[in-house]
Amino acid sequence: MHPEDFRAGDFGHGRNWPIGYQDLEPFYRAAERELGVAADVDEQREAVGLPFPAGYRYPTRAIPRTHLDTVIAGALDGRRVRERPGAAPTTLRVVTTPHARNGRPHQEPGPDGGPRPAAEDAVCRGHASCVPICPSGAKYTPLRTQARWASSVTLLTRAVVSRLRLDASGRVTGVEYLRHPADGSAAGSVPRTAEADLVVLAAHAIENAKLLLLSGAAGGSGQVGRNLMDHPVLLTWGLMPGQVGPYRGPGSTSGLEGFRFGPARARRAPFRIEIGNWGWTWALGPPDGRVAELLRTGGPDGRGLFGRELRRAAGDRIGREFAFQFEMEQDADPANRVTLDPAVRDPLGIPRPVLHYDLSDWVKRGIAAAKAVSDQLFALLGAEDRTGFAPGPGWPGRFEHEGRAYAYRAAGHGAGTHIMGDSPRTSVVDQWQRCWDHPNLYAVGCGSMPGVATSNPSLTMAALALRSAGRIHQDLLARHRPVPLRGPAALEGADHS
Ligand SMILES: Cc1cc2nc3c(=O)[nH]c(=O)nc-3n(C[C@H](O)[C@H](O)[C@H](O)COP(=O)(O)OP(=O)(O)OC[C@H]3O[C@@H](n4cnc5c(N)ncnc54)[C@H](O)[C@@H]3O)c2cc1C
Ligand code: SF4
Repeated sequence: MHPEDFRAGDFGHGRNWPIGYQDLEPFYRAAERELGVAADVDEQREAVGLPFPAGYRYPTRAIPRTHLDTVIAGALDGRRVRERPGAAPTTLRVVTTPHARNGRPHQEPGPDGGPRPAAEDAVCRGHASCVPICPSGAKYTPLRTQARWASSVTLLTRAVVSRLRLDASGRVTGVEYLRHPADGSAAGSVPRTAEADLVVLAAHAIENAKLLLLSGAAGGSGQVGRNLMDHPVLLTWGLMPGQVGPYRGPGSTSGLEGFRFGPARARRAPFRIEIGNWGWTWALGPPDGRVAELLRTGGPDGRGLFGRELRRAAGDRIGREFAFQFEMEQDADPANRVTLDPAVRDPLGIPRPVLHYDLSDWVKRGIAAAKAVSDQLFALLGAEDRTGFAPGPGWPGRFEHEGRAYAYRAAGHGAGTHIMGDSPRTSVVDQWQRCWDHPNLYAVGCGSMPGVATSNPSLTMAALALRSAGRIHQDLLARHRPVPLRGPAALEGADHS
């Protein structure tokens, strides 16, 4: 996130953070090392405005641009667009995106002795199957972190926490959990208890809120489960005039950053623009759908294409597919929330969460501005715009704004449901992600974020977690600090600390 993002509430929408960029900055760097982020510091500083400590560099070199990125940069860099008639023009520039994927190692050791070098065989090779799995091991995986755990750590798998245990003073004494056998025969299993001096909920935004609600915990502010945010995504897609080599590399390697910051945030939600390397997959599904269409009706006479003609048509069409993904900031709105279903339970007998979710007019204005920008980008690229939001089940997030139809997808970046703030009256956790109402309960993750800005959330989430880890460590030390005992033995000079 950018320093301005922590003060997003100053623009009149959403909330300010109780901490600033400078509080998180060292933890951003630690998270980048832990996750193994590939990026170019100079480019991020210059094009995004991120402040870095002197001499800083990312653990590995930036993931290279795809051919599509290069073609788009050639057509757009330095050109200007307006998000609406009369608005100040924005100059376009394609910028590579930082990733938690291994880029090529630096040739020289880093100023701090050299961050983790990526093994040559674990460098991103462009397989394009990042969701769900990376065959070359280039993508960050928690297994890397778990491999360093001490033998004192016990990992219990197939154990689903069903509620927190609280004592009369409000302290958490542990968690109840249900075993979930691999054969699915879990119904009716007896809850077990894990006792604890301190509990950290890290089950992500929906489940953390669900567990707090199920336990009647952290309810002082009335904000548990509220302020649910995501990055609503406007997708636009089309065909480039020539071959651009889609379906290679991570989903996106570059973007346009010019609509994320500045005074326009007061009028409409800011957005960043990802250049999508995976063709029309997100909008319409993988390419086999288009092949099926050519098989049915691809010929000039409306009949199907086969053999060499089919191969040529599919190659021409699919090789020109591209998409833009406009990721919008969403403001924290208490009406967007997670609640518990009073009737429907999961197979373990735990109530299902229910989500209430909508977009504010500020976000809708942002989407309208993004579409206006998209129209100009397509014109500058000479691309054929195939974007369409026909009513139907394919676009559950369809809406009309000032007479035009739009639709959005969810990025899957749930946040805000145990929101962080500087007062127990208006927030669930403090700046350390510690529940105001329970001194030994932490709820960590994107659920603590007071705002999602326009960047993908996991680096900020990881930085927050590392910052909280220091505080948790202090809490535990304070709880177990040796106390000198005074008694007859002490009077005799023996050390009974
Ligand atoms: C399709 C998709 C793409 C994404 N892409 C990006 C991206 O490019 N960049 C980015 O920054 N972010 C991205 N995100 C968001 C990112 O995945 C999350 O920010 C991140 O995973 C959150 O980490 P977490 O550890 O808090 O939660 P999770 O990764 O969700 O882990 C929570 C864990 O808790 C476990 N759990 C849940 N409930 C219980 C329970 N009751 N008892 C015991 N265990 C429980 C779950 O099984 C899970 O293992 C993406 C998300 C999606 C869905
Ligand atoms: S593109 Fe994705 S799946 Fe392929 S090597 Fe890179 S990170 Fe792994």
